[in-house]
Order: sequence, then C-alpha cells, then structure tokens
Amino acid sequence: MKRSEVDRSKLSPMMQQYMEIKDKYEDCIIFFRLGDFYEMFFDDAILTSRILELTLTGKQAGLDERVPMCGIPHHAYASYVDELIDKGYKVAICEQLEDPKEVKGMVKRDVIQVVTKGTRIDANIDSKSNNYIANIYNFNYCFGISYADVSTGDIYATLVEGESDKLLKEIAKLGFREVIVNNTIDREIVDKLRTNLECLVTIEKEELEDDDYSYIYKDIEDVRIVKTLKHLLYYIIETKKGDMHHLQPCSVYKSSMYLEFDSNTKKNLELVETIRNRERQYSLLWLLDKCKTAMGSRYLKNSILNPLTDKKSIEKRYDMVSLLSTEFILRDDLIKALNNIYDLERLVGRITYGNLNAKDLLQLKTSLKELPIISNILKELNFSKKINTFDEVYSLLEKSIAEDAPFTLHEGHLIKEGYNTELDELKKISSGSKDFILELEQTEKEKTGIKNLKVGFNKVFGYYIEVSKGQCNLVKDEFGYERRQTLSNCERFTTPLLKEKENIILGAEEKIISLEYKLFMDIREVIKRYVSDLQKTAKIISEIDMLQSFSIVSDLYKFTRPKLVNDNTIKLIGCRHPVVEQVMKDKYIPNDVVMDKATSILLITGPNMAGKSTYMRQTAITVIMAQMGCFVPCEEAILPIFDKIFTRIGASDDLVSGESTFMVEMKEANFAISDATENSLILFDELGRGTATYDGIALAQAILEYIHDKIKAKTMFSTHYHELTTLEKDLKHLKNVHVSAIEENGKVTFLHKVKPGAVDKSYGIHVASLAKLPSSLIERATDILNIYEKKSIKKEVFTQTSLFELEEDELTNKPNEIEEKIKSINPLEMTPMEALNYLYDLKKDIKDKK
Ligand code: ADP
Repeated sequence: MKRSEVDRSKLSPMMQQYMEIKDKYEDCIIFFRLGDFYEMFFDDAILTSRILELTLTGKQAGLDERVPMCGIPHHAYASYVDELIDKGYKVAICEQLEDPKEVKGMVKRDVIQVVTKGTRIDANIDSKSNNYIANIYNFNYCFGISYADVSTGDIYATLVEGESDKLLKEIAKLGFREVIVNNTIDREIVDKLRTNLECLVTIEKEELEDDDYSYIYKDIEDVRIVKTLKHLLYYIIETKKGDMHHLQPCSVYKSSMYLEFDSNTKKNLELVETIRNRERQYSLLWLLDKCKTAMGSRYLKNSILNPLTDKKSIEKRYDMVSLLSTEFILRDDLIKALNNIYDLERLVGRITYGNLNAKDLLQLKTSLKELPIISNILKELNFSKKINTFDEVYSLLEKSIAEDAPFTLHEGHLIKEGYNTELDELKKISSGSKDFILELEQTEKEKTGIKNLKVGFNKVFGYYIEVSKGQCNLVKDEFGYERRQTLSNCERFTTPLLKEKENIILGAEEKIISLEYKLFMDIREVIKRYVSDLQKTAKIISEIDMLQSFSIVSDLYKFTRPKLVNDNTIKLIGCRHPVVEQVMKDKYIPNDVVMDKATSILLITGPNMAGKSTYMRQTAITVIMAQMGCFVPCEEAILPIFDKIFTRIGASDDLVSGESTFMVEMKEANFAISDATENSLILFDELGRGTATYDGIALAQAILEYIHDKIKAKTMFSTHYHELTTLEKDLKHLKNVHVSAIEENGKVTFLHKVKPGAVDKSYGIHVASLAKLPSSLIERATDILNIYEKKSIKKEVFTQTSLFELEEDELTNKPNEIEEKIKSINPLEMTPMEALNYLYDLKKDIKDKK
C-alpha cells in the first residue's frame, strides 16, 4: 500500500498526525516515536525492513487494509540510524513532545532532528577526518562553495572559476559526502555528484534569514559568498534544529593561498589513501601522522590537501619543526601533555548542541588540566600563538562532576558531594533512611522472632518485609504488618514506619535526580560561554600537534629542511619517495632532481619498471611536503614555491567523466596546459601512449614544445618514445635524463638510478618475461623484435623551429595595454563594486587614448 494512494479522511488521528509530519520530510525516513519504539510506516517500513532486516508487520489505521509497519526499540536506535545514513538515506527523528501520562488523548509529536551523512555530530564519526557538508551555488560565470564541519563548527567558503569539470574536481578533492545545491544548478552536475562522487545531494532553494547566526558571515563583503553561506546555514539549522552557536565565523579563502592540485593528483600521489585499497595505510598521511590528538590528525589531513604558498608562513613552520627537534626534551613533555587531550573541537560541538553526557565533561576536564603545561611549553618555544588555560572552567568541573558519573543524565550520580548544599541534604536524608531500613531487618527479626525474615525492595511494590510461607503463622496483628504481595513461597508486608521511610527515600531520590540534572545543565550553560575561546585554543593545539609530528617524522626518517628560493631552481639531492622508502627499507635508491633556472623540462626515458613514475611522484610529494611546512625526504633540498601541480600519472580512470583513457589523458593535458603558469609543476607520465605510435609521438612533441615555449612551467615528462630525446637539440630548456638498467647475459637489472642523457632501449620484452608470460611467447617476441630492428632505419623526430616560437616572434607589435590590464586582474578576488569601478576605468582609458 502506497502512502500517496491513501484516503486520508479515513485514517486514525495518530496516522493523520504521521501523514502531516511525513509531508514535511518527504525525502527522509521517519522514525516515529510510539511509546518505547520508533515505528516506520508505508514505503519507509518496506524499505527499512529490507535494509535493517526487521520484521514487516502492519497496523490498523482506519483503512480496509493494515498499513505496513516495522519498528525498533527506542534505546537501540543509534546503530540503525548509522546503517541507514551509511547507505545514503536521511532519517528524521520524530519524538513525543509531551508525557503521555500527563495528557489526555493524542500526544504532540514533531521532528527534533534530521540525521544526514554530512551533518552528524555524534561520537561515531571518523575522528581523524573532518566530515563536511557543502553548498554549491551556481552564479553562471563561477560557482560559490561553502562547507562546514557541523561537529567542530569549522566553516569555509570560496569561489571556483570555470567549467563544471573544475568544480567537480574541487569537490572530489575536498571529499564532501553531502552537498546542497540551489535549484538553478545543471541537472548534469547533480547527476555526476550523485553517481561519480557518491554524494548525497539535496536541492534546496531556501536561505537563512535568522539574524541569530549572522555573526558567521557579518564580516564578509562578497555577496556571492554570503549567498552560498546562507543556503548552507539554512539547511544545517533546519536539519539539526538545536543550538548551533558553536558554528564559527566563516573563513573565506582564495585558491592562490594554497598550492592547487586536483582530485587526480590527490589520488595519484596517494596523499591520503592508497589507490589500490583506498586505505589510509601506506599513504603520505599515514606516514606523516604521528599526531597525538584527533584534532592534530584532522589538521594534518587538511594541510596535506592545502599546502601553503606564503613563504613566511612556511618558514615559520620549518623553524618550529627544527626547534622541536633540537629541544627534544620539551617535545617529549609536549607529547605527554597532548596524549591526555581529548577531541576538544567535537566536545565543544556537543556541549553547544546539547547531546553531551557527564563523560564528555570529564574528558574536557582531563584535557584542560594539561593546558597550563602546554601553555608554558609554547612560551618556552617562543611559539607565535598563545593558548588560554581556562582555570575557572577546570576548577568548576573539578568541584562538580563526579568521577564515576554514568553515560545517562537521568539516573543521578552526576554531581560530587560538596558542590551543592541542597543536593547534599537530600542525599543525607535518603541515605539516613536507607540506613534505617538496613537496620530494620535485624530489629524486626528480634521483635517478631521470625528468623528468616528479610527486608527487600522492588520497583513496583517498593520496600517490603518478606516472610516465608512456613513462618507466616508467626505474624501477629500487634506487629502492624499490612499485606502487600503474595508469592508462591512467601508473603510480603509493609508497616506504617517502613512506608514513611520509603516515601522519604523515593521522594528524595526523585528530587536528587532532577536537581543533579538541573545542576549539570547549569554547568553546561557556564561552559557554553567559553565555546569560542575553547575553539581557538583547540586550533592552536591542533597546529602544534601537527608540528611535533613533523619533527618526529623528520628525525625518524631523516628528512631535511628545504631552502625556499625565488629564482625558479630545483635542486633535490638524494631525494626519496618517503612511503616507498619505508616499505622497501634500505633497498631504496635515492635520486637527484636538478633543474636550474634555464631548465624547464626533464624528459625522462628508461625501460618500464625502471622507476620513472616513482621519480616523478617523489618530486611532487617533496614539493607538497615542503609547502606544508614539513621537512623533506632529501639530503639537500632547494625549491621555489609552486602555485599549482598537475599530474597525469598512471592510467587511472577519471572520477568525474567516465570517458576513455585516452580522452581523459588529453583532457588532463588540456587542463594542465590551460591552467599552468611558469610557477607550476607539471608531471606527465608517458602522455600519448593511449593512441597509435605516430599520433602519440606527434602529440607528445607538440605538448612539450607548447610547454617549453609558452608556459615555461617546470615539467617532468616520461616517455618510452626514444625518438623524442632528440628534441634536446632544439628545445634549449629541455634536458634528457634516463633511468638506467644493465643487461647481462640477456638478463636485465633495473638500477633505479636517474642519470643525465637519453637511453634508447625499452626492455619491454624483459619486463614481459619478468611477468612470467610463457617462454615460447617471449622467444617469438624477441624474434619479431629482431626483424623490426633490422628493417627499420633509426627514427628521428621531425623538428623545426617550434610553431609556438614563431607565433611569439610574429607578435612584434607592442602588447595591447588594455589587454594586459584585463589579464592582470582576477574577477573572483574582486567585489562586484571593485569590478564595476575597474570596468569604468578601462573604458575611460580607451576613451583617453582616442
Ligand atoms: P616505471 O614508471 O618506470 O614503469 P615505476 O616508477 O612504476 O617504474 O617503478 C617500478 C618499481 O620499481 C616500483 O614499484 C618500485 O618498487 C621500484 N622502484 C622505483 N624507484 C625505485 C628506487 N629509486 N629505488 C628502488 N626501487 C625503486
């Protein structure tokens, strides 16, 4: 039976209430609270019973047929919600808002929270990664992206220029799990987000109007950023419904603040997970993460994906890494202190939102205890940022929260003795009466002479005096016993005095529980005042934790401090791939990467399996590590600061398009060529191999010439087209290097050593034999090769003065001033007002010239 086909007028009042709520949350599975259960109805019930393996039953709801229904016990709902969220559904938790005991008729119900992939705040989310929810706003000429981690309160926003492919790459890189889009976005983008990037997508046209949260964007001038933020915030606040004031003012960033690279580069270089298993182990993140706190690990992950471009900031990090390595005793003390710091950012989120328990406050207390130590260490290290120590909060928690407090807030045992006199009084009364009852058994035994008389308690009948059936004849009227309960082997009694004590105990206990709850909530309110400061301190701790991790790995793996230069030279002596090196241990062969000012392209030849792509990967990883502020896997390292990295390594499928490998390869090449500058690093691994030989050579050569003459980016280009090595004669900024191999008695040994000059053998057949292809097949291939080699004349590529050079030469006329002016601006970095003024000035310039 479908919900949409139901005659609503026939439904029972409760089902009508259900229908109204479901109308408002069409795209969610409703967990509808009925007493001790959450029930699902109609299509939700059919779906969830299948996914969660629940029994599908039915409910009489006024219709001829029973309505499909399934349910789960309310206390066990969290794991069921998790499973549904993981599968990409949204769950709306609908609660009873009144106590059924206190109202006549139907209780009020409403959704108190919608749980979605990207807005989770509970303790089950991966602690070492941020969990972002994003909004994408299409402004036709650019996209606004804003995103928040609801558990920590971090919010960021930026603008992305260009085509939708660029947007999707950015989203793949940032790793969003849930995205909200406005209703003007292309259907194609939505489809790709859903299918290729596995994002949960919601189309939402509303935006936030509530002033209460305007502090998040009040300092932002760019109206486009504000627009996307308001859409994001509307969704978050509508979904979570509770207090979200731990959301922090938004940080707006420009792509130029960070070393830019796309999701393919992130994947190819295995920065945060491996290509093969998509696991953290054996990724760069895994190698560098010796952080002691979850916050530090998250900060590190963000730093790997966003290395810096500001020389001063990078060098400040180097200074700290180097100081921590020299001051290793201080570093040890720091590590000890960090070991006791819990996830302050997420604790603060829970304190504000309200889903916290006493254990969270105990974790906060344990963490705060370390702050004075960390603060002193930071002072001794002369660290540029200072942290608060929150002494008042610490002493409040120390005085108030019981060390063995339970997880729930409704059982008491939350508050320490001595914190509140009223509470202490109540506890005294309760325990005094309890003592009386403990003694009662003895006095009654003596008074009545009944030896096996017992005093006990149960929830339904309260305190009782129990006499076994055989002794009941000894109970006399003068004892004043009143019968309470008859069991098969005993009778249970009460007395006026016992009842009085029972009332005192139960009354006191009820009061204790509600007073403890109130006191707990008051403490939470006090701590809420410190939320923003706690978040700032948490960020500083995350940063220093990352830096101590850099210092530890630098010592452990013999990394070196890079020297950053402005003259576009690269000199990496004894450079290694830091992860492969650890896996291979001492068998790893270090290599040099030297590109002086005058060299922009290294053309790398060498047999398959010689180590060409590893050589390129290690260069890119070294650049990324250097710009993160970490030391690098080299004996000596001199590097410029790069603005962007482009990689085309390996035949990985494109996450975004699902096109043929060659098409993807060409698109990647185009992406690099159109976006790279002379400050970029381009890595092309055997570009052009996906097509016929001459096609491939021609394309590879043309691309090399284009980069050489027009872009001038530092480029590493590996190829098995040995014909290309003759280009060195004509392209003055191109240098040949090769990865050597030796051949002895028909056997090839790869030396993995990069040397100057070219090599002209590919050893493909040797690699095939290493791969254990049948020996008859290998022999046949060797024969064929011999025939070809005899027949062919040595090929040489066709070189002429590059066409691109000609183009430049032809441009003899002076560069157009207006054109230059337009080229020099970035519309994304201007406010609409600035853009308008600029346009006005340009027009004036043209007029003046005429
Ligand atoms: P290519 O790109 O030339 O086909 P790869 O870079 O994929 O070769 O390297 C092939 C294998 O050689 C790698 O899996 C690695 O185990 C090994 N290798 C690469 N570089 C080195 C090195 N510098 N030292 C030791 N082994 C290496």
